[in-house]
Amino acid sequence: MQEKTIALVAHDNRKKDLVEWSEFNVDILLNYKLICTGTTGILIETALRAKLGEKKDQLKITKLKSGPLGGDQQMGSLIAEGKIDYLIFLWDPMEPQPHDVDVKALWRIASVYNIPTAINRSTADFIISSSLMSTDYKPLRKNFSEYLNRVVNL
Ligand code: PGA
Repeated sequence: MQEKTIALVAHDNRKKDLVEWSEFNVDILLNYKLICTGTTGILIETALRAKLGEKKDQLKITKLKSGPLGGDQQMGSLIAEGKIDYLIFLWDPMEPQPHDVDVKALWRIASVYNIPTAINRSTADFIISSSLMSTDYKPLRKNFSEYLNRVVNL
């Protein structure tokens, strides 16, 4: 099976949750490539490397820019390129974010490409424990040809 990629992001008030979740699932996560927004990635990398000890070099983690500085948009473009298979984004429903529009754009593109997406920890649990994770499951994509071939009046 081709190696799949999990994108991980958390707003500041949810970073502790995502670090705990990653530590709990570290053995599973070793089977995937991880792509994170900047600060989330630093925290997860530090925690998982400490937990893995001698196995720390097995961790495959890429850190994009920090979310508010373009990291969410980078992640969205990777989804559009088919380079991300799952999105785990623990967001903070209690605080406005300066990059709300970027977050919405990321979730939107994840829906366009129908990739499994968790916006809270319980859904992340359901995704990571799904038997479909270890199969060649390919999300159905809508056929956008009607949209692409629409008549645009000039
Ligand atoms: P960060 O970005 O991981 O760089 O803090 C998270 C986010 O997009 O809110």
